[in-house]
Amino acid sequence: GAKNRGSNAWCFFHEYMTQAARERLALEARLRRALELGHMRLFYQPQVDLHTGRLTGAEALLRWHDPEEGLISPARFIPVAESSGVIGPLGLWVLGEACRQGQAWREAGLPELTIAVNVSLHQFLLTDIAGETAQVLETSGFPAHLLELEITESALAEKPEEALAVLSRLRDLGLRLAIDDFGTGYSSLAHLKRFPLDLLKIDRGFIYDIPNSGDDMAISSSVIALGHAMGLKVLAEGVETQEQLSFLQDKGCDFFQGYFCSRPLPAEDFARLLEKAGAGQPLVDVQSGVTA
Ligand code: C2E
Ligand code: MG
Ligand code: MG
Ligand code: MG
Repeated sequence: GAKNRGSNAWCFFHEYMTQAARERLALEARLRRALELGHMRLFYQPQVDLHTGRLTGAEALLRWHDPEEGLISPARFIPVAESSGVIGPLGLWVLGEACRQGQAWREAGLPELTIAVNVSLHQFLLTDIAGETAQVLETSGFPAHLLELEITESALAEKPEEALAVLSRLRDLGLRLAIDDFGTGYSSLAHLKRFPLDLLKIDRGFIYDIPNSGDDMAISSSVIALGHAMGLKVLAEGVETQEQLSFLQDKGCDFFQGYFCSRPLPAEDFARLLEKAGAGQPLVDVQSGVTA
């Protein structure tokens, strides 16, 4: 009967939850150990000027290199890090490593570029991100104006007053601030215009169906116009094709990232790109779309 079915359903649900909770705990413990054992790596994806094809920056993207499983994607472990508090030490490691690497490239005489680092919601609102960033800049010697922090729209929307205070402290350090995944959250434009920002990053979900989706083309060109009207630069994420590149050029978008230029690369491979950029060579031929 109904009663029976109900209790079976409950048992199933209960068991499922227990299993999920157990896996989560195990992942959390492995994550802490991986950080201690030095199994985390940063990959770097080029950020390119849409009109000259030249390299302007790199986004640092976290990879967990597990000896048995291989590379584990951040989509799988960032949510666990966020909800377990591991994001504090993990986020601090990312900041430190990105600045250390950026400074090492400068000291090797490679061309200057911005390094963008992702900051997640809990890291932004619950840790002393401004104090830690100041410390990391001082220890590494990496100049503040070359560091960009990417914060998701949802982090700003959740607690706008707190967010404004944190952003202002970060801005006072002299670094650059970007909104990541723009268009996927619910930030109010009234709040947005009060935040001290430099860059909007259009989420790749709005790029990948160009030129087939009229809606996505309308959204992307509106975000470019909105960003420019607010005095911000705009970067499109996830650009994979020549058509997407041409569309964005036509709409006056400033920068792009995406497989069309390069996937995220290990530091050694990225350094080779930097050497090419140092010789004054554009990374992408933005007219014909041929990658160098
Ligand atoms: P995100 O910051 O929006 O990063 C962009 C994601 O899009 C990256 O995935 C990148 O590899 C991928 N991508 C770039 N170009 C293309 C393209 O042309 N096509 C496609 N299909 N994908 C492209 P990834 O590296 O797996 O990172 C996923 C998310 O994990 C990031 O999204 C970010 O939210 C988070 N994440 C990564 N590293 C960190 C970190 O160090 N700290 C924190 N808090 N979050 C991080
Ligand atoms: Mg990002
Ligand atoms: Mg993004
Ligand atoms: Mg994203």
